[in-house]
Amino acid sequence: MHEMSIALSIVETVVSKALEEGNGRISSIDLLIGKLAGIEPQSLKFCFSAAAKGTSAEEALLFIDEPEGLGECGDCGKRFPVSFYYAECPECRSLRVNIVSGKEFLIQSMTIEEEGE
Ligand SMILES: [Zn+2]
Repeated sequence: MHEMSIALSIVETVVSKALEEGNGRISSIDLLIGKLAGIEPQSLKFCFSAAAKGTSAEEALLFIDEPEGLGECGDCGKRFPVSFYYAECPECRSLRVNIVSGKEFLIQSMTIEEEGE
């Protein structure tokens, strides 16, 4: 499953980062997942909780920001919202549309709690 391998790589990234910062527990993770990224947030959350079991990210909450898709026409330069990879320019009907936003996938930030005494 696609989301599972993504979840595993997120866990790996945040756990090694937490280790660098003193091995505290991770309380939250902010993700940016564009609507065109091909990642299902609900499914990712589900996979994440399985992938994070037994790690310092086990109790982390996932906050997912989902930027809308935005296309730019390669012919007339118009920008417009898109919900699929293949879009048609509403202005000139061109199919030379570049996706300029909505494909993002990154870990924006994470919160690590200091380990108690
Ligand atoms: Zn156009």
